[in-house]
Amino acid sequence: MPQKICRITNLWSQCNWQINETVSRVIIESTQLFPYQLDYLNQKKVLFNILFARANMAPQTIEASDGLIEKIVIQQLPHDVVGVHIYLNYPMPCKISFKPGVPARTILSFDRLFIQHVFKNKIIALDPGHGGDDYGGRGPVSLIEKDVVIAMARKLKDLLEQSKAQVLLTRETDQNIPLTHRFLLAKKFEANVFISFHVYHGANPKVSGLALKYNPRAENNFYLAQCIYTELARKIKRPLRGIKVDQQLCYLENIPGIIVEPVAISNWTEEGLLRNPTFYEKIAFGVFNGLRKYFPP
Ligand SMILES: [Zn+2]
Repeated sequence: MPQKICRITNLWSQCNWQINETVSRVIIESTQLFPYQLDYLNQKKVLFNILFARANMAPQTIEASDGLIEKIVIQQLPHDVVGVHIYLNYPMPCKISFKPGVPARTILSFDRLFIQHVFKNKIIALDPGHGGDDYGGRGPVSLIEKDVVIAMARKLKDLLEQSKAQVLLTRETDQNIPLTHRFLLAKKFEANVFISFHVYHGANPKVSGLALKYNPRAENNFYLAQCIYTELARKIKRPLRGIKVDQQLCYLENIPGIIVEPVAISNWTEEGLLRNPTFYEKIAFGVFNGLRKYFPP
C-alpha cells in the first residue's frame, strides 16, 4: 500500500530568553506523524528531511537568531520530501520528540545551556546616552531620546547577565552624566567593550535606519562594529546608514567602543517602532549576537 502523503501545516522556532530557556526548539505541525532522515552536513548545519510529505507553506527562511539557531530554511524537494535545514551558530546535536494528535507535532530541540556562560569573565559597559536635563533628540510625536536609550540598555543588560557577563551601566536613572565620566567608568573597571546607545535625530524626517560609530584607537574595533552592524541589521531590518569613526570614543584608548544608533527618532515610522516593546528585544538580540560573534568561544 503506498504511504499516505503528510501535509506540513506550520513550522516555527521557539526560544524564550526571559525565562532562562535551556533549549531552542523547532516545532513542526503536520496532519500526521511522518518518517524522516536526519543528517548533519557539517556540525553546524542540520538536515531534517521529512519523507512522503508536502509543505503547505511557500519555501521560506525563518531568521531565528536566538543565539544558537541562526536560521531555518524550508523547501519542497523532489519525490515528496520536505527539507527543513537548520543553521546553527555552534555545533549542537538535535533531539527529536513527537506529540501525536491533530495537528501532530514534531519537536527538534537543541541544548543551549552553554550559552548561559558565553560571556563569563567579560565586563561590558553599557552607556544609555543623555539623561536628566539633556533630553537628546525628540520625535515628531514627542518621544525623547534619553528614555528610549535607557530602555535599550536595560534590555541588553538582562540578556548579557543571563550569559554571565558583568554589566556596568553608566547611568541607572534619569541623570545627566558627563561624557568623560562615562568613559572613565569603563576604563576604571577595564571593560572589554563599551557600548553606547543613541538614536539619530535631524531636521530631515526622511532620514532613517541603522548607523554605528567606533573608536579608531582600539585594536579590532572595526571588526566589532561589523559584527554588531550585521547582526543588528538582520534583527531590526531597517535601512543602513553605515559605520563611521567617532573621535570622542578615542578617550577610551584601547577599549573597543561603539555608538549604536539603531534608528532615527525624527522619522515618523521609526519613532513608532520605538513605542513597541518587541522592537527593544530585537535591538538587544542583535547587539548580543554581534558580541557573541566578536568574542571567540
Ligand atoms: Zn544622542
